[in-house]
Amino acid sequence: MAFDYDLFVIGGGSGGVRAARLAAAEAGARVGLAEEYRMGGTCVIRGCVPKKLMVFASGYAGAMQDARAYGWDVAAGGFDWAVFRARLDAELDRLEGIYRGNLQKAGVEIFDTRAVLADAHTVRLADGTEKTARHVLVATGGRPFVPEFPGSEHVITSNEVFRFEALPKRILIVGGGYIACEFACILSGLGVKVTQYYRGAQILRGFDEEARGHIAGAMCDQGIGLRLGCNVQRIDRVADGLWVKATDGHDGVYDAVLYATGRVPNTAGLGLEDLGIGLKENGAVEVDGYSQTAVPSIYAVGDVTDRINLTPVAIREGAAFVETVFKGNPTRADHELVPGAVFTRPEFGTVGLSEEEARARGGVEVYATAFRPMQSGFAGREDRVLMKLIVCAHSRRVLGCHIVADHAGEMIQLAAIAIRMGATKDDFDRTVAVHPTMAEELVTLKAPVRTW
Ligand SMILES: Cc1cc2nc3c(=O)[nH]c(=O)nc-3n(C[C@H](O)[C@H](O)[C@H](O)COP(=O)(O)OP(=O)(O)OC[C@H]3O[C@@H](n4cnc5c(N)ncnc54)[C@H](O)[C@@H]3O)c2cc1C
Repeated sequence: MAFDYDLFVIGGGSGGVRAARLAAAEAGARVGLAEEYRMGGTCVIRGCVPKKLMVFASGYAGAMQDARAYGWDVAAGGFDWAVFRARLDAELDRLEGIYRGNLQKAGVEIFDTRAVLADAHTVRLADGTEKTARHVLVATGGRPFVPEFPGSEHVITSNEVFRFEALPKRILIVGGGYIACEFACILSGLGVKVTQYYRGAQILRGFDEEARGHIAGAMCDQGIGLRLGCNVQRIDRVADGLWVKATDGHDGVYDAVLYATGRVPNTAGLGLEDLGIGLKENGAVEVDGYSQTAVPSIYAVGDVTDRINLTPVAIREGAAFVETVFKGNPTRADHELVPGAVFTRPEFGTVGLSEEEARARGGVEVYATAFRPMQSGFAGREDRVLMKLIVCAHSRRVLGCHIVADHAGEMIQLAAIAIRMGATKDDFDRTVAVHPTMAEELVTLKAPVRTW
């Protein structure tokens, strides 16, 4: 049967764009791609990129204070959201243009519309047109999830944060995951009075507990009103904002309430179940190690499969799919030792096992140190850095590394290479320190603080 395309990709985000471009440019495939919103997907338009630019923006007030301690005659005036947002919008337009241009250069045909599956080899566009393809890649990502409760219609999600007309003066952030914590630090840094509710006992569930506690303490120190074991009961619009009543009896009035309580895969109405493709309880597409679904011609990559929901992972999955299907080189998506960063203030960089995961396995040594770093210490700030290694007591291999410090994201990228290569604690110790840096502590950790 003659197909219109060798590959049709649904979703122009991190995973879909990479797969479409590689299949067309490197394997000579005829590729079509449908994107219903903006090219680049969550990462570029309403995730990693605009968020990181807001992280940068939020750091200047503190930097200005530090500069005064270092002798500079400067003071932070007000932050002008309108100026920042105009520049942010222009930057996102520029990046979107680059993504679109790269696809077009590779010969990918772009459809700016929603697409759904009609059968194992056919996608249907919003205008009813059908396109056939030998393979279909579902790369539709995820979206924020807001539970229903009295007043839930008043809340916003991370999608809307980048679109504020004016910055709120008081915001309530609900959630304890990395997105909630990052926006708490960003908005607090921009001068917004931030209250954060999280229904659990500690923020950043799933990460190393010592690091979680360290970050929670730092967030409280910078004035974020963190309330744990606390959830929203109801929200009412009142004359001067949104009145929020909490489950623990707390109440307050805010200009905005941001829900960052998790994300769900974009599979509703895609037609997957009708084709016999399994969905997990949260709607994620079930795939095997090669990202193939139960229908052999249909694959899925990225957040829609809810494996590790990070941009570089979606990109790797997209590339592995192209290797497997278009280059005759079956390649499993690799989810081992994926490093990550949480862009709170201070940042958190992490790779490998947390102390709790390692403890459950047993036979591990924990090396850790917390100290006041030179730069902020001189400026009179109380910030503390945490450096932590989890080491196998038998093989001496480093199984995990956790860093809470300014620029921890940059540090963990490099530590992850060594750990991925199987570096032992002795390899770390043999490496000469770079002095004076914060990271030198990673190669000078002498005795374990705990063994399990
Ligand atoms: C606020 C925030 C901050 C984040 N920060 C980071 C970070 O710092 N580092 C990191 O690694 N990751 C981060 N992420 C996660 C990262 O953005 C995602 O893991 C990544 O974008 C997933 O890529 P994807 O290709 O699977 O999906 P997406 O990038 O979500 O792309 C899916 C695309 O499909 C489109 N689409 C959906 N349904 C259809 C349809 N039926 N037809 C046509 N088009 C459709 C959507 O419009 C979207 O453009 C962040 C996410 C958020 C929300």
